[in-house]
Amino acid sequence: MLWMLALICSLPVTNRAQVEKTEPENSKFPMTQSPTYNLEKAEKLARKLRDKGIRDKAVLAAIARIPREAFVGEELAEMAYLDRPLPIGEGQTISQPYTVARQTELLELEPGDRVLEIGTGSGYQAAVLCEMGVEVYSIERYEELYQTAKETLNRLGYFPKLYHGDGYEGLPGEAPFDKILITAAPEVIPPKLKEQLRVGGRMVLPLGGRDRQQMTVVKRVSETRYSTSTHGDYIFVPMKKGTE
Ligand code: SAH
Repeated sequence: MLWMLALICSLPVTNRAQVEKTEPENSKFPMTQSPTYNLEKAEKLARKLRDKGIRDKAVLAAIARIPREAFVGEELAEMAYLDRPLPIGEGQTISQPYTVARQTELLELEPGDRVLEIGTGSGYQAAVLCEMGVEVYSIERYEELYQTAKETLNRLGYFPKLYHGDGYEGLPGEAPFDKILITAAPEVIPPKLKEQLRVGGRMVLPLGGRDRQQMTVVKRVSETRYSTSTHGDYIFVPMKKGTE
């Protein structure tokens, strides 16, 4: 079962041609194919997030294995391992690594969970989910971002199921989901996503107006009952209706 999920979502690090632990320091050969990545900076970023309070070891291990620079433009590669959000085009951002780690931790993932992400953006969060051994579905409203994220993820050996669409609709044909993660901010909990959560499942979302939102965990307690808890203030881009 688990090996099947690993195939659906990601290949083990050792099988990924483009990602290497180390890069020859004075290589005389210019890279003509996909770039290779040195993961030392990703490992350092994971240690920094641990120091900032991220406890889930599986989340930290996932962050240590992903070249975040692959998810931003070349001109931002230098800044890719700083703990800050960065622009990814269309006025959108790749979330701050701490926020990615915190949202993932709050999902309380179990191996094999079916997880729906709203807001693929750069694809970085989807890569983190793939590394955690879950089955990933992700929706992005901007076609351009959807395309770029797909290319980046596939090049790195991650194959989540990606959709260009409006996250407010969810994926009724694939529901129910064990976990739902929203990475843009809606003003109310999207009703269709609540319906697509399995009884016993969890949704993590930044909830609130434009200026600031509260990280919120929604648990589906029964067919009709939900409980919520809040986990600090954040600032996300708004969750917008429709597609572009
Ligand atoms: N998870 C992303 C973060 C991207 S920022 C990453 O790791 O890079 C939030 C993303 O949500 C943006 O790309 C934005 O376009 C997208 N978004 C906003 N409203 C949406 C909606 N209704 N449906 C799908 N995606 C949406």
